[in-house]
Amino acid sequence: MKDDDEKLKFEDSEFSEETREALVEEIDSRLGESAACELCGSSDWNVDTRLLIFTPGYLSNGKFGRYPEKGSPHVSLICQNCGNAKFLQAIYYESLKPLMEKADG
Ligand SMILES: [Zn+2]
Repeated sequence: MKDDDEKLKFEDSEFSEETREALVEEIDSRLGESAACELCGSSDWNVDTRLLIFTPGYLSNGKFGRYPEKGSPHVSLICQNCGNAKFLQAIYYESLKPLMEKADG
C-alpha cells in the first residue's frame, strides 16, 4: 500500500492527445471495419483521454464499500450518434503501457 501522497492523482489518469491517437490506431487495427455500433450502425466512436478506474465494491450492513487497490483501468469508447458506451481494459493496449507503469510505480 502506497503512502497517501504517492497515490495516483486524478491528473495521472488523463493521457495526452498523442497517446490517444496511438490508442485509436491500435483499437482500429484490432477491430477494423467491423467496429460499427451494434445499436445504431454508426462507426463514429469517441475515445476519451481519461482512464476510468473500475473498483469492485461490496455491501456490508447496508453500506457500500470499495476496494480501490483492486481497481482496473479502462478506456471508454462512446458512439457519437447514440451514446452507446464500451469500456476496454487498458492493459491490453501497448500505447497505454507507460501510463500503467507509472501507476504501478
Ligand atoms: Zn450508436
